[in-house]
Amino acid sequence: MLKFTPILLAILYALVMYRVSVWRTHRDLDARSTELADPELKRLTDRLAAALDLRRIPVYVYEVDPVNGLAAPDGRIFITRGFYRKFRSGEVTGEEMASVIAHELGHVALGHARRRMIDFSGQNALRTALILLLNRFIPFVGVWIANFLTSLLASRLSRSDEYEADEYAAALLTKAGIGVEPQKSLFRKLDALTQNRAGVVPAWLMSHPKTDERIAALEALEARWTKA
Ligand SMILES: [Zn+2]
Repeated sequence: MLKFTPILLAILYALVMYRVSVWRTHRDLDARSTELADPELKRLTDRLAAALDLRRIPVYVYEVDPVNGLAAPDGRIFITRGFYRKFRSGEVTGEEMASVIAHELGHVALGHARRRMIDFSGQNALRTALILLLNRFIPFVGVWIANFLTSLLASRLSRSDEYEADEYAAALLTKAGIGVEPQKSLFRKLDALTQNRAGVVPAWLMSHPKTDERIAALEALEARWTKA
């Protein structure tokens, strides 16, 4: 039994950190967000809602600067204040904002949202647990392997999620009569929009696939749709 105690402790630690991480993200979202009140965006999200037979889509502004979108497991969609500012200044169009909201709706509909709540502290918990575990068997190298496995897992999980959410958004935007073009044009702007934060790499930039690959995937989808 004593031999397994460190392993059990590592697993327990990871579980506790995961719960803390989800709880902290929830609390932060509740405390620092207000419902989006923008007539132009409301008109667009109402079109998305109509295409989904929903009364409305709950969109909130989350008071942080990095350009990002987020979906909570309860179905609320969050746009960061930094992102909304880009819309207000005209750098991002309403249709492009709608494409982000459609993408986040995809994460909710496809059940990704809960997994995405695992932020960096969640990943760190997993990394620490792995280090504790691996170091018992392979000292020194264990740390390196743990880091590698954690980032591999995180990027694998999120990469397929992103493509699926993009596909969902493309279908929804098409049904709502907005089309796929705003999705592609936003991707083209994305790198520039997030570049000016040297040193602070936003979570979603690390986990999102390359924008040109996402555009290519959308174009393949469009080609398939027009052929059908
Ligand atoms: Zn996403």
